[in-house]
Amino acid sequence: MNEQYSEADRRRAIAWALSFAQGTRLEPTEQERLLLERFASGELTLTQVDALLTTPVHHVLYCSQARAGLTYADLEAIVQESQPYNAERGITGLLCASEGGFVQLLEGSRAAVHELYAKIRRDRRHHGVTTLWDEPGTERWFAQWNMAFTEASPLEYFWLVSHLSPRGSALSLPQLPITDPRLLTLLQAFRHLHVPYNPSAC
Ligand code: FAD
Repeated sequence: MNEQYSEADRRRAIAWALSFAQGTRLEPTEQERLLLERFASGELTLTQVDALLTTPVHHVLYCSQARAGLTYADLEAIVQESQPYNAERGITGLLCASEGGFVQLLEGSRAAVHELYAKIRRDRRHHGVTTLWDEPGTERWFAQWNMAFTEASPLEYFWLVSHLSPRGSALSLPQLPITDPRLLTLLQAFRHLHVPYNPSAC
């Protein structure tokens, strides 16, 4: 029998399962809970949830300079074209755009992330793409986003890049003039890492 479940049915089933798991060792982590919510809303299939939970995650973090004259509409086009591609391949992450440049974190399987990164490097909408990090990771920091997007002021962008670069800034996170929770997550995730590359300034 090919039974169709409504979103309400899915939500009820998940709420029911979660209530049984609460307080036990089966209680889902924050990442699992967010993925279950996306499944319940019909945004992800069970196969996609499974892939997101079981694939070892690889992180690529880079910064680049935006092509002169790039408009807000160009940025919107990039974000819009990214969502379906990333969703299909289990890629999550954050794209931060500023007046002059980008910082982007790609997370997913090593192969999927490298394939996308090769396309991004060739994209003429930016240049000076500089790898800041290209290593296996322990978890997805932006599991609920196929590509979160945020804009940073030039000052925020300056501090973001200097904090993520090997030359690093000596400031601690609370001292940085950055309040966007997504940028703070990024800084938090990579603040202890020794960056193995030697990027020139973005
Ligand atoms: P095609 O669309 O055939 O592109 C052919 C070539 O032209 C490629 O080099 C492409 O990069 C470039 N190109 C495409 N559109 C334009 C344009 N309007 N102006 C100038 N050059 C163009 N894509 C994702 O799927 N996921 C992401 O997370 C993602 N993040 C990005 C972040 C940044 C900062 C930028 C600049 C682009 C990002 N993209 C992302 C887009 C990505 O670079 C590719 O355009 C996309 O993957 C399609 O590439 P393609 O080679 O399959 O196709």
